[in-house]
Amino acid sequence: MNQDSGVTLDKITSLAKRRGFVYPTSDIYGGLTSSYDYGPLGAELMRNIRNLWWRDLVTCREDMVGLDSQILLHPETWVASGHVTAFNDPLVEDKVTHKRYRADHLIESWLEKNPQAEKVVVEGMNLEDLAAFIEKNRVKTPDGNEVFPPKAFNIMFQTAVGVVEGDKMPVYLRGETAQGIFTHFANILNSTRVQLPFGVGQIGKSFRNEITTGQFVFRTLEFEQAEIEYFFDPEKTDWQELFKEWQDAMWQFVHGTLGIREEKLRWRRHSDAERSFYSKETYDLEYEYPFGFKELWGIAYRTDYDLQQHIDHSGKDLRYKDPQNPSRTIVPHVIEPSVGVNRVLLMAMCDAYWEDKENNRTVMRFKPNLAPYKAAVFPLVKNKPEITGKAREVFHMLAKRMGTSWDDRGNIGKRYFYQDEIGTPFCITIDYQTLEDNTVTVRERDSMKQERVAIEALCERLLKEIEA
Ligand code: ATP
Repeated sequence: MNQDSGVTLDKITSLAKRRGFVYPTSDIYGGLTSSYDYGPLGAELMRNIRNLWWRDLVTCREDMVGLDSQILLHPETWVASGHVTAFNDPLVEDKVTHKRYRADHLIESWLEKNPQAEKVVVEGMNLEDLAAFIEKNRVKTPDGNEVFPPKAFNIMFQTAVGVVEGDKMPVYLRGETAQGIFTHFANILNSTRVQLPFGVGQIGKSFRNEITTGQFVFRTLEFEQAEIEYFFDPEKTDWQELFKEWQDAMWQFVHGTLGIREEKLRWRRHSDAERSFYSKETYDLEYEYPFGFKELWGIAYRTDYDLQQHIDHSGKDLRYKDPQNPSRTIVPHVIEPSVGVNRVLLMAMCDAYWEDKENNRTVMRFKPNLAPYKAAVFPLVKNKPEITGKAREVFHMLAKRMGTSWDDRGNIGKRYFYQDEIGTPFCITIDYQTLEDNTVTVRERDSMKQERVAIEALCERLLKEIEA
């Protein structure tokens, strides 16, 4: 495979718009900051990613079930999770990694490392004091980078339930899908036959009022998460082994199922300072986007923190009774692999992009299971009813089994060129010979090789290649 694919973020952004993968939201009004919509091809690609994730990590596992919880949850959920209490925290953002830190925490750890410095009381410092201190002392993040000035900051979008002014209940658009899983822990236990260890997977929209903008769909205000909470009894399951198993499952999904090149992937372990206080271990699976290695998928061992918080805030019993020893109850611990579907889409597009200079074409070399359309059906000519009729038969036969596109415009060369750019692995042409022997021409995207295949064998033949 040609490693120099010629990919840049500008080229991906422009192809995405030109070919209908991703459009800026409200384009005719000049767009909305960090917001994008998915066009006809993007909608298919997103759906393929979701379906493959769900198939591999929920359906095909004995120890997983799914959930679909709401975007609007009881506001106490976010108090318990810690999202609301961080409301007015002064946050600073790393200028390079864009990670956010509590400004007071950064200063405190700077003071610990610089005992000779003049003592200050950090607690209660206002935004200006914090900004002045950071600037004067050149306080940096644990990664050694400078920070943007501190801001009182909360990433939660607030809205309200109710229509009468003065009587509205403030609620939040969820900042992550995970909390819906934790709040249903007891319901899932009571309504299904799961026993520890087991996991719950969910895909859905999340919203964050991000202060960093740019980088296309990598970081947006509204995005989609695919999250797993994997519950276990820490006395019966070795968390380190389990953590490793989940890391392997993530890698297998990205490299094995989605076909992403391994040399573009790496693990990054969070340092003690970077990790949330309740997390015992956090890793990011990073992909090398055109703007550098960046977090694609995070995995964290969150101990029993979340369930314990919901027990404390709701007063409900979310403990688990040991089936071998009913007098023993525990608060399960949890490992959380959490990925942004939109970041997977951006990775898939960047990884697939290839400028085939020899043949003067751009090809999106998606693994066939990811490609928005698996096949495109072309009648050789438009004005011969026998040919278009036969082509329609082939189209409907394939469309029932796989994403299929119909194209009868322009010459065949132009149609190939277009399908290459949107990543369709197989183009099927119905021509004069088809009328004689019921065979069609199948042209493969990457090799551009063509062969005749009998219509009756076509569907199984393509499915075999797509599912390989
Ligand atoms: P980052 O450090 O990039 O802001 P995060 O550590 O805050 O991400 P998590 O809270 O761990 O992210 O969310 C889990 C996953 O959700 C991330 O790995 C990422 O794939 C995705 N994600 C988070 N924020 C966004 C966003 N604003 N836009 C798109 N995807 C996001």
